[in-house]
Amino acid sequence: MVSYLIKPGELVLKGGNRAAFERILKRNLNALLGDTGARIEIARGRFYLHCPENTALDHVEDALDHLLGIAGWARTRICEKEPRVVLETCVEIGREFRDRGLRTFKIEARRTDKSFPLDSYGIRCQGGKAILEALPELAVDVHTPRGIIEVEIRERAYVYGMEKKGLRGLPVGTAGRGMLLLSGGIDSPVAGYLMASRGMHIDGVYFHAYPYTSDEARRKVLDLARILGRYTLGMRLYTVGFTPVQLRIRDGAPEAWTTILLRMAMMECAEKLAKKRHDRCLITGESLSQVASQTIENISCIQSRTVLPVLRPLIGMDKDRIIHLGEAIGTYRTSILPYEDCCVLFSPPHPVLRGDPAEAGRLYESLALGDLIDSALRENVMERCGYPQEP
Ligand code: ATP
Ligand code: MG
Repeated sequence: MVSYLIKPGELVLKGGNRAAFERILKRNLNALLGDTGARIEIARGRFYLHCPENTALDHVEDALDHLLGIAGWARTRICEKEPRVVLETCVEIGREFRDRGLRTFKIEARRTDKSFPLDSYGIRCQGGKAILEALPELAVDVHTPRGIIEVEIRERAYVYGMEKKGLRGLPVGTAGRGMLLLSGGIDSPVAGYLMASRGMHIDGVYFHAYPYTSDEARRKVLDLARILGRYTLGMRLYTVGFTPVQLRIRDGAPEAWTTILLRMAMMECAEKLAKKRHDRCLITGESLSQVASQTIENISCIQSRTVLPVLRPLIGMDKDRIIHLGEAIGTYRTSILPYEDCCVLFSPPHPVLRGDPAEAGRLYESLALGDLIDSALRENVMERCGYPQEP
């Protein structure tokens, strides 16, 4: 039997909500684990995962690496609450450190069961001594050790090393739902992840302009949704064919305004879809001044016709930070595949930089896009991406 100890993140701070958060975190972990046979136990704010023989541990660890709402996790030994056994277990972990080439260590100890004969200072000293006697090639380094051995004397004795950092954030499903405008670019998947990491369950909508954008472009978005869906316990991606809308904008509006008007149409359509799904906000990957359509004036134009709040978690981030996050969550490599975005259909050489919302509204009305948007919406294609269960 292999056991893991999981340290929940911020949810322990949530006072009265704690039980509900724990329940959701447990449900999410169960969904990620699927039918591995692992059993979750919750004891005093800690989660433990017990895996019977033959459990696919790489699958379990992959689940822990995708679980939002935890501060860290480690494979732990559970041993008798008996000083001799605890110290021997410390030595075993010291041996693992040595085998991995980690030559310096320190011991951290916590004791909530005060009946255990050694206090935390005693555990640290005696554990260190036992390790140095058995493994003279190791050395103690309390400031910058290569490995930390953790001892916790609680309802049972837990000894572990090699704690891995969790994703932190809040468990998905604790903060309502949002509709992500997901393009094939670098930014919007990261924006979706950031909102999911605050506990939001997300749906996605992609506006496709076939044949101006290829089927590869659509599949790329689908792949991104699958990657995101691993963190969000499944995600619905709605693909909406937007070619007729785009063509009407191209043929009926001043060229300099086309990008802004297209974004307005996307927002209107996304909002309609969001209302059907009971999503309470729209989410985009906009970042201030990154491109011409993302000046504050143009952002005002783009959202001037939506009622739902538009969340833009990347608004103040530099591109290199966004790329770094995209790499960390695994979307970046897919994002940079060379398939065109639907906006290549028109990229005006001299776009409006500081649009006036009143003028944007007048131009938008004159295009009378309502029916086209409604019929595009009626023909949307929905795919479930990521894990099959949805919260
Ligand atoms: P991204 O990297 O997310 O594509 P971007 O820097 O290319 O963003 P824009 O092309 O101006 O910026 O798009 C701004 C935002 O509008 C995107 O982050 C995304 O949320 C949304 N968006 C753009 N194109 C589409 C599309 N075809 N389908 C769905 N949403 C889109
Ligand atoms: Mg883009």
